[in-house]
Amino acid sequence: MKVLKFGGTSVGSSKNITNVVSILTKYAQTDKVICVVSAVGGITDKLLEAGQLAQSKNSAYTDAFTNIKNIHINIVKELIPTDNEAVINYVNTKLEALKNLLDGIYLINELSPKTSDKLVSFGELLSSYIIGETLKSQGANAERKNSQELITTNSNFTKAEVNYTITNSNIQEYFENSTFDITILPGFISKSVTGEITTLGRGGSDFTAAIVAAALKVEQLEIWTDVSGMYTANPKMVKQALPINKLSYQEAMELSHFGAKVLYPPTVQPVLSLQIPIHIKNTLEPDAVGTIISKDGSNVNNAAKGITNISNIALLTLQGNGMVGIPGFSRRLFQTLAQEKINVILITQASSEHSICFGIDEKDAVAAKSAIDAEFENEISLNKIDPILVESNLSIIALIGDSMKSHQGISGKMFSALGKNNINIRAIAQGASERNISAIIAQNDVKKALNILHEVFFEGNIKQLNVFITGVGNVGERLVEQIKQQRKYLKDNLKINLRVAGLSNSRKMLFDTDGLSLKNWKEQLEQDGETATLEGFYESVKKLNLRNSVFVDVTANKDVADLYAKYLKQSIAVVACNKIACSSKLEKYKELKQLSYKYNAPYLFETNVGAGLPVIDTLNNLIASGDKVTSIQAVLSGSLNFVFNNFNDTTKFYDVVKQAAAEGYTEPDPRIDLSGVDVARKILILARESGTEMNLEDIENTPFLSESGLKSDTVADFYETLVADEAHYQALYASAKANNSQLKYVAEFNEGKAKVGLKEIPEGHPFYNLEGKDNIVMFYTQRYPEQPMIIKGAGAGADVTASGLFADIIRIGNN
Ligand code: ADP
Ligand code: ASP
Ligand code: MG
Repeated sequence: MKVLKFGGTSVGSSKNITNVVSILTKYAQTDKVICVVSAVGGITDKLLEAGQLAQSKNSAYTDAFTNIKNIHINIVKELIPTDNEAVINYVNTKLEALKNLLDGIYLINELSPKTSDKLVSFGELLSSYIIGETLKSQGANAERKNSQELITTNSNFTKAEVNYTITNSNIQEYFENSTFDITILPGFISKSVTGEITTLGRGGSDFTAAIVAAALKVEQLEIWTDVSGMYTANPKMVKQALPINKLSYQEAMELSHFGAKVLYPPTVQPVLSLQIPIHIKNTLEPDAVGTIISKDGSNVNNAAKGITNISNIALLTLQGNGMVGIPGFSRRLFQTLAQEKINVILITQASSEHSICFGIDEKDAVAAKSAIDAEFENEISLNKIDPILVESNLSIIALIGDSMKSHQGISGKMFSALGKNNINIRAIAQGASERNISAIIAQNDVKKALNILHEVFFEGNIKQLNVFITGVGNVGERLVEQIKQQRKYLKDNLKINLRVAGLSNSRKMLFDTDGLSLKNWKEQLEQDGETATLEGFYESVKKLNLRNSVFVDVTANKDVADLYAKYLKQSIAVVACNKIACSSKLEKYKELKQLSYKYNAPYLFETNVGAGLPVIDTLNNLIASGDKVTSIQAVLSGSLNFVFNNFNDTTKFYDVVKQAAAEGYTEPDPRIDLSGVDVARKILILARESGTEMNLEDIENTPFLSESGLKSDTVADFYETLVADEAHYQALYASAKANNSQLKYVAEFNEGKAKVGLKEIPEGHPFYNLEGKDNIVMFYTQRYPEQPMIIKGAGAGADVTASGLFADIIRIGNN
């Protein structure tokens, strides 16, 4: 004898029912089969909705009814296309009875638990009848038996308790005499001793199957559903979740109690003492291994087995000085809840006894508050305790596994992973069995939390990074291309799963929680992108609430820089080539550094100085290892170096500047480079990173531009002054030539002071032969007093800047 149960999704359509039929006929070739079925997928909810509409005098209940009717009639027609009149007539009679019941609810506008059970029983009665008839129409030796005649309960409507003595003997007696190869039983529904319709609780068809399996002492109970077993986390919330091959009864109970809906929690009880294994299988993938739940559990010594969640939790806190040291508070509190039939899901009490905190289903919160406030009315009026505090929109997440108790550091790992991602933990509970560590968090954070914990405990330490890029011009575009090209390498070699979850240019923005494919990202951004705003981008990144989020600023825009603080406060890392924030007022720079520290969110800006050259990282490493910077000498402007390397008595200053702009070596406004402001910002950042507190105004800047060039109002005006003042620039060149020197724009930092300006560099100096758009930085430190540490190479250009940004992103991944 075999007992199989098929859930709502397995019998949710005629196509799926056909799968079920073929599984059953195959099993029936070798053994007698008992098959418990749920209502057609979603029907129980639809019946309850129709009932609630009727109860609230909303005549739309008739539409809801028609919808339920059509679903069933269509399934019959598809499964039994010919000679189906008798079946359709029977189904119609049942549907008529259902309609009468709904009309009755509408008339008296009342839906008691008793009537509710009667209402939902139609779901399983119809599905089991239709499946039984389908089997018969295909020649199987099958029948449908109404399990209400077998399973007897008390009158606790909507979640009745089984009378096993009567039920077991009913089942045994019936199947001893049955001659059918396949028997279809409706799950979930039962009858009370006094003959009223009852149900076993939502999801209770699993339980029906377990009751039958235990009564008949079969070898194995099979639960067929829409996923391939019990997973390490709900596969609908965590894409990377994996089926767990083996679980102990205790682990399965714990997982299901804490939200793994795939198994209705009481299901384990009847089969546990008889040690009947439960096999969870997938109707849509019958060959998948599935999960075996047995006394042996798993021999794999993986401490944590799964992560679950329960939504719609309210957290209630009873607190007050009058509670300390006085016995009886907890007893009165929980007695009150018991009297109200309110189930307590989680409890914590601080050892100071100053407060007791407990989690319950949100729908019970109002009743719980008024009952407890009434119970403690006297103490509240004497200010011994405070009125009970209720917080809603919360969820419980739980990490579960039998052998967590023999492993140290699991809760540390769990809470530090959540903390790093800014997930606020409202309450914690860990049972003495240590089979379960639970935390209450905001409902909004659940998906993120499940994914973080799944990554930490089950994904071989592959870290997912979710990158959001603003500014996909020249540099941004190269960055996206580099990411696209390197993704596989990063996953295989650095265990980083790098995903671009958001992109924006100045007009459009585009997001994807699962990461954009990047295949045709430019076209996709244009076609599918929504209108971009900086705030809108921030709001979307925040709302997506993905773990290890990184905001990448590839603009030179002040308004973008103004948003870094907001990102960091959400524990979203910031990577920027935009140097405005780092070179703004000292307070701002310090604030961002502090926020980065406080919220555990890196703020990296390597590309602010020397594009892709590892200047800031090197400097940070020197300082971190205890060295002290005494002086920095540097050529930090790729654009100015390009200009002065190409300017001589055979070229025109205007032409050279124009060419630098055309090749993308200057800022959009070339005055930012030529006035020295850009270089001043860079040496300011290096000075600050060396530990000196200074502002841009503290940097001495001797301009080399002509008087009119300095005064020009617009970029166009400025270019005109370059033409008009050619002689001024030729004079600079002539002087350097006469001194056998090269013109270089130099930044210096010495003993706490910084300056920038054009210099004549004599032959033999390390700056003399600096070519093209190269940068050079010389660090003189306590450990490098005479021969400086030198970093040299291309200091501008889209590709090298993009790779500098990329390096910062990877630093965060390795963090
Ligand atoms: P059925 O209709 O077959 O009884 P249910 O909807 O009751 O199916 O249960 C199956 C669903 O349980 C899955 O589709 C999945 O979304 C959910 N689920 C939640 N947690 C888990 C988990 N840890 N493993 C597998 N499924 C889970
Ligand atoms: N149909 C019932 C429900 O939806 C029972 C079940 O599916 O197990 O809760
Ligand atoms: Mg179920």
